[in-house]
Amino acid sequence: MGEGMKDDLREILQKQHYRLCGEHAGVKLCHWMKQSLLKGRTCYKQDFYGIRSHRCLQMTPVINDCTHNCLFCWRVRGFESTVTKWQEPEVVLDTCIEGQRQLVTGFKGDPRCSLSMWQEAREPDQVAISLAGEPTMYPYLGDFIDLCHRRGMTTFLVTNGTFPEVLEALDPLPTQLYVTVAAPNRDIYRRLCVPRIPDGWERIRRTLELLPSLDTRTVIRHTLVKDWNLGWEREYAALDRLADPTFIEPKGFVFVGDSRRRMTMDNMPSHAEVLEFGRRVGDELGLVLLGEKSDSRVAVFGKEGTETRIPGR
Ligand code: SF4
Repeated sequence: MGEGMKDDLREILQKQHYRLCGEHAGVKLCHWMKQSLLKGRTCYKQDFYGIRSHRCLQMTPVINDCTHNCLFCWRVRGFESTVTKWQEPEVVLDTCIEGQRQLVTGFKGDPRCSLSMWQEAREPDQVAISLAGEPTMYPYLGDFIDLCHRRGMTTFLVTNGTFPEVLEALDPLPTQLYVTVAAPNRDIYRRLCVPRIPDGWERIRRTLELLPSLDTRTVIRHTLVKDWNLGWEREYAALDRLADPTFIEPKGFVFVGDSRRRMTMDNMPSHAEVLEFGRRVGDELGLVLLGEKSDSRVAVFGKEGTETRIPGR
């Protein structure tokens, strides 16, 4: 691995409308932010959890490194590097918010975008710590989450689960913790998630076993890629049982970014297929459908009667 962010990667990311912070963090306007501002269409997180799409900051503290090379990932890969200087949480958050403000500048004055929504978009109240790369590799993640919470923002953290020791020590925990389980067994994991570490599968299992002890809302995300990992519902259910999450969220793979080099449109399951998968896993676990959004090919399952909205949202 090289040191620091390489200039070619910086150039690629800037062309793709990322705003960067130092050599490891980045922010990008989410598709749903634009849809929400211009067309009143919102992300499933608004429907399921009450997260307003136009106030969500989609960022990552680790843009150029991950323990996986998932074939379905949109991350630009081949540029993994050792970070030489980790930015402080305040610098990361302020730079990402400033980046988001620059990225929404163009919407001001667009007749389709209300001025009040535009102003709100400049003041995010939710941070989606995901985007690309593995966020638990950022050494100040707990302090970063703490800072977000102190500023009145909720946090969603999406991890691939290969750092159970980080999650175990994380303080505070995010408002909602997602662990992606994109393979029902070690063999599919090895072929689809292409781990860059030798013990990735064991580490994910340790994370799943840890989840019930974490005092926050937990979600198992099943990213579903047709002809690769769709099916095997009993095996997925056995993994989910270890984690006893608040929710499970099956979601269809989306053919975007770098994944287009490795996948085809045919690898995107239909919404009906995603739902059917969720129903079968849910039946194994006694979970029912709590929400669905066909344009994102996503559904949420949990115990009957569970309120999915974040309190106060
Ligand atoms: S774990 Fe996430 S960031 Fe890492 S390669 Fe897989 S999809 Fe991409």
